[in-house]
Amino acid sequence: MLEAEHVQCLIIGSGPAGYTAAIYAARADLKPVLYTGIVPGGQLTQTTEVENFPGYSNGILGPEMMEDFRKQAERFGTDIRFGYVTSVDFSGSPHKVVIDEHKTITADSVIIATGASAKWLGLESEQKYNGFGVSACAVCDGFFFKNQDVAIVGAGDTAAEEATYLAKLCNKVHMIVRRDEFRASKAMVNRVLNTANIQIHYNSETQEILGDGQNVTGIRIKNNQTSEETTVDVTGFFVAIGHKPNTDIFKGWLDMDETGYLITKPGTPLTNIEGVFACGDVQDKHYRQAVTAAGSGCMAALEAERYLAAKEHAEVD
Ligand code: NDP
Repeated sequence: MLEAEHVQCLIIGSGPAGYTAAIYAARADLKPVLYTGIVPGGQLTQTTEVENFPGYSNGILGPEMMEDFRKQAERFGTDIRFGYVTSVDFSGSPHKVVIDEHKTITADSVIIATGASAKWLGLESEQKYNGFGVSACAVCDGFFFKNQDVAIVGAGDTAAEEATYLAKLCNKVHMIVRRDEFRASKAMVNRVLNTANIQIHYNSETQEILGDGQNVTGIRIKNNQTSEETTVDVTGFFVAIGHKPNTDIFKGWLDMDETGYLITKPGTPLTNIEGVFACGDVQDKHYRQAVTAAGSGCMAALEAERYLAAKEHAEVD
């Protein structure tokens, strides 16, 4: 038989959005229970230095920062548990959430902060040098490659935006595009084409990230029309081939766009289901920053608090 437990506020996800929601919900005495997901701490545990999160004047390692988030959430009494949500039932109140296929939790409010995962090429060398020259976030890590030569793979709006961002910091940006055209909007493509220190390699696929065992030293690319292979010397390799929001379990319950991002009422964390809120990257494909995720986590907790207070009043009246 499935175990069952009732909570006021259930938070799913343990990145900056989830933990910030937990800090606010715990301080509002909602006694939140937070399930971490498979990667406690989220995407930031897979990066190295974080220099753009306000408050850390000397920068901090991503995993350490998420440890600080966790401790702060715990300090106010958040019940943090390792577990993975395997299904949900949002057909009525309370909402039902199943953890690891065996435990059912009923919750008066649910805050979804399951994030998004960067897509990777899937090369062994890409994994080997992840955090040591390989990155999926130019805004986070571009600074470490100031005045150096870097490469970026992808041809969508993100890649175009990140390439022009990198071009301002770096000596040269090699853009690796697998077709003979971009997917990005015309305006973004024009920006790339008009940036002198971006060199585009069309019809090119990355075969391997080269390194000296510690850091990236170059990439080997192959022209898929001529089969010619070339080595490009770079110290940084940025992957910008899209993100996948972690929303599979919410299909059929929550409104999402064609790429799976949850749709919230503009400027709020409200989903189409009462008492279910979404924050962080799972509902934001534009900004995707730790600080914006944290801000939206705060908003979700405030809305959950208001929702629960209004519900309690309605029950009393
Ligand atoms: P997209 O899915 O739009 O683009 C992904 C790009 O990566 C495509 O060019 C694709 O190539 C390429 N790609 C995918 N897999 C591989 C691979 N294995 N090897 C090489 N290249 C690969 O993702 P984005 O993150 O760019 O954008 C996501 C959404 O966010 C879009 O709707 C975009 O418009 C929006 N956005 C808007 C911005 C803005 O308005 N300022 C900024 C950033 C994003 P191919 O084209 O050949 O399929």
